[in-house]
Amino acid sequence: MKRRDVDFSAPTNNICNSVSCNTPIKRSVSRKKVDAVSSLNVEGTSKKVGLCQDCYKIFKKATKKDRAMESFGR
Ligand SMILES: [Zn+2]
Repeated sequence: MKRRDVDFSAPTNNICNSVSCNTPIKRSVSRKKVDAVSSLNVEGTSKKVGLCQDCYKIFKKATKKDRAMESFGR
């Protein structure tokens, strides 16, 4: 029995890592940051995740909101 180490994630390299999103990547961001955004579900285990324009917008909005909320609740 041979162990197969086929990297199925390879062909998706240029596709948005967000679940159920098949748009080409526009930006790549740190996975940690994306994990903090509950409205974004990303696949894969790499440190960097690729996001399409739409998903990046969501990400940016969410992180912005987060920061604004932080300084808001003093
Ligand atoms: Zn996307």
